[in-house]
Amino acid sequence: KAKLGTGESICYFEDEHDQIMRRDLRLASELTAALNRGEVDVHLQPKVELKTGEIVSFEALARWDSPELGPIGPNVFIPAAEKNGKIRVLEQKVFLRVMEWLKKRQDRGQRLRPVAINISAEHFFHRSFIPYLVDTAAEYDIDPKWIRLEITERIGFVDIDTAYKVFKQLNDYGFTSSVDDFGTGYSSLSYLQKLPVSEIKIDRSFISNMEGEGTLAIVRTIIQLAENLNMSAVAEGIETETQRRTLLALGCRYGQGYLFHKPMPLDEANLL
Ligand code: C2E
Ligand code: MG
Ligand code: MG
Ligand code: MG
Repeated sequence: KAKLGTGESICYFEDEHDQIMRRDLRLASELTAALNRGEVDVHLQPKVELKTGEIVSFEALARWDSPELGPIGPNVFIPAAEKNGKIRVLEQKVFLRVMEWLKKRQDRGQRLRPVAINISAEHFFHRSFIPYLVDTAAEYDIDPKWIRLEITERIGFVDIDTAYKVFKQLNDYGFTSSVDDFGTGYSSLSYLQKLPVSEIKIDRSFISNMEGEGTLAIVRTIIQLAENLNMSAVAEGIETETQRRTLLALGCRYGQGYLFHKPMPLDEANLL
């Protein structure tokens, strides 16, 4: 047997990488059928005002419960869909479900609040992205002000000029947008300052580690940055009362997390 060396660990890594690739390919091909069978659904998680707990908006999160494979988390099927050309059709499905939900509420005279939708980089930069949003919102008679697009900071905003144009167009049509998972990517501050984005979502990894002085300083800095840029700071993944109080003391107005509400089916969110 060959002894363990660098060579072997590289082989091991490639094996694992191969397995993930095969798994993702399989998931992506099942996903197409799943979308047609209506197995992919949407849950909504409220975003609240930290001081009062009042619900100010919702975030749409994709859910997939496969009869054969069981429930699969978005952290698994979203990357699989991204790598295999299925993400746009999936996100369009999410968008349609949200439009239906908003439309029903609007028709019944129920109160509307903005709903945020997560958009992957590939979809965001696709030429049909904005026309699709505009046409679909018009078809459902939903004012774009009720629709927010969340783009993760991890996309790095590689193509800065194009990203700027997309954000600007979204804004011109009346949609709002947020930078998601802030602190996990590498966006430059001078760039962020130019973006017509209304909110910055502080990644959960910072919120859950605020007992650490260093992390606390980062959270404080992000909140101040948002304020200086005229954007609102939203803390993700708040689980404890201590976290809520700390964030309020730092001047953060909004948050999401299990302390307030878990993501819930559309029917349940309809009662709110
Ligand atoms: P995200 O957009 O940052 O969404 C927040 C995630 O944190 C959600 O996980 C939510 O359920 C979870 N969360 C909220 N509050 C808490 C809390 O207090 N504690 C803990 N431990 N978790 C909390 P979920 O639904 O599993 O989604 C994971 C990620 O998958 C999302 O992160 C988003 O990046 C992605 N995702 C989901 N749906 C879509 C979609 O339609 N398109 C794209 N591109 N990504 C999506
Ligand atoms: Mg999000
Ligand atoms: Mg997030
Ligand atoms: Mg996050």
